[in-house]
Amino acid sequence: MAAETWAGISDELRREVGESNHKSWIAPLECIEINDDVLRLRAPSRFVGDWVKRNYHDQILAHLNRSGHGVTRVDFEFGAARANPTVVSPSVAPSRSRAPMDDALQGAPLDAKLRFENFVVGKPNELAHAAARRVSEGGEVTFNPLFLYGGVGLGKTHLMQAIAWELQDSQPELQVLYLSAEQFMYRFVQALRDRQIMDFKNLFRSVDVLMVDDVQFIAGKDSTQEEFFHTFNALVDQNKQIVISADRAPGEIKDLEARISSRLQCGLVVDLHPTNYELRLGILQRKADLFAQSYGGIKIDRGVLEFLAHRIASNVRILEGALQRLFAFSSLIGQEITLDMVQDCLSDILRSSDRRVTVEEIQRKVAEYYSIRLSDMLGPKRTRTIARPRQVAMYLSKELTSRSLPEIGRRFGGRDHTTILHGVRKVEEMRLSDTQLDEDIELLRRLLES
Ligand code: ADP
Ligand code: MG
Repeated sequence: MAAETWAGISDELRREVGESNHKSWIAPLECIEINDDVLRLRAPSRFVGDWVKRNYHDQILAHLNRSGHGVTRVDFEFGAARANPTVVSPSVAPSRSRAPMDDALQGAPLDAKLRFENFVVGKPNELAHAAARRVSEGGEVTFNPLFLYGGVGLGKTHLMQAIAWELQDSQPELQVLYLSAEQFMYRFVQALRDRQIMDFKNLFRSVDVLMVDDVQFIAGKDSTQEEFFHTFNALVDQNKQIVISADRAPGEIKDLEARISSRLQCGLVVDLHPTNYELRLGILQRKADLFAQSYGGIKIDRGVLEFLAHRIASNVRILEGALQRLFAFSSLIGQEITLDMVQDCLSDILRSSDRRVTVEEIQRKVAEYYSIRLSDMLGPKRTRTIARPRQVAMYLSKELTSRSLPEIGRRFGGRDHTTILHGVRKVEEMRLSDTQLDEDIELLRRLLES
């Protein structure tokens, strides 16, 4: 019964992810069982399991939920089937269990959802988006590499895959290779083991566009770094476009060789800033529309979206997971998504995303940064040198904590909420034209969030 359900889902996934992705990632999976809320799959290797988990987890869940299963999680086991005859599915031939890396120039599978049309642009990511767009036009190489960096779940992988899709569509003759640094290493080690290092080199040097995701992964892995460096240089010399992502700026990646880090900075380095409220709301609206389509038109209150955008800061992946869970839950119980449901259904996520920064910390840091006294920040003085930092602190309190305006007002020496609102608006407005102020705020934000 479980095996049949899985076979059905596997078929549907084939249509969604395409034949070759299906062959590489979905077909090798074997269903062990479905119990109350867990689907257990066996993957031929941890590598494949991790890939599927990262890239297809939500899709698999959505299908299960649609076919009436209350599953909330997919677990993977690795390696050959255990000797339990009741759970072994005969349909998986042993030869299938080879890792898909054996295929010649196959990169990681691209996720059909990660296209430009699904990427919501806001102030925190507009530069990165513009740069990615430029690369995706595939014209003359103007900056090499494009180096995208930023925290987890801010859209690095999304932008890279969007570039790959776009190039594939507009110039199918181009060899575009997208893979994670982890896969790069995996292939490299495999080539060393199989004594096929020349093949490896030729392969990587023959691509037109190389995209390596999460490059921080190879830091400290000496021979992989070395090989990456040579690949990188060879491609740059041939004027082939390279796109790299990492979780931090090149110079800040620990144990990355200095010559590599300086090479990586030769092109255009852009960062994805932490999301702000407006961007989160925009993303939620877009995703809610998409979910609503695949869940047969379930309605979600705008208030729910606003609540989520407010409470779940910064990581878009978690935001998306929360929404996914709400839709799955709502389709199970056949009710609209309401704020009450949010509290019940997402209590774990809401707890763990409670922001740790306090208004007091913000006041202290901002006062220190602008070299003013904390007592002045809270006191009545209205000179510009005091009032401006005070407004910045109000603004950051609104952005980084979940305190309401009256609550913030109380912490600013008992000010009225309209005063806080005025301060917040003022800073929002000034940020647009005053680049110094804008940079100060970004720096402070980072200090506070780290
Ligand atoms: P990163 O690689 O930076 O860790 P991802 O690109 O994997 O982050 O993004 C995490 C999830 O959030 C993905 O599902 C992605 O589609 C989504 N996401 C991130 N930023 C955006 C955005 N601006 N618009 C729409 N979806 C986004
Ligand atoms: Mg990523």
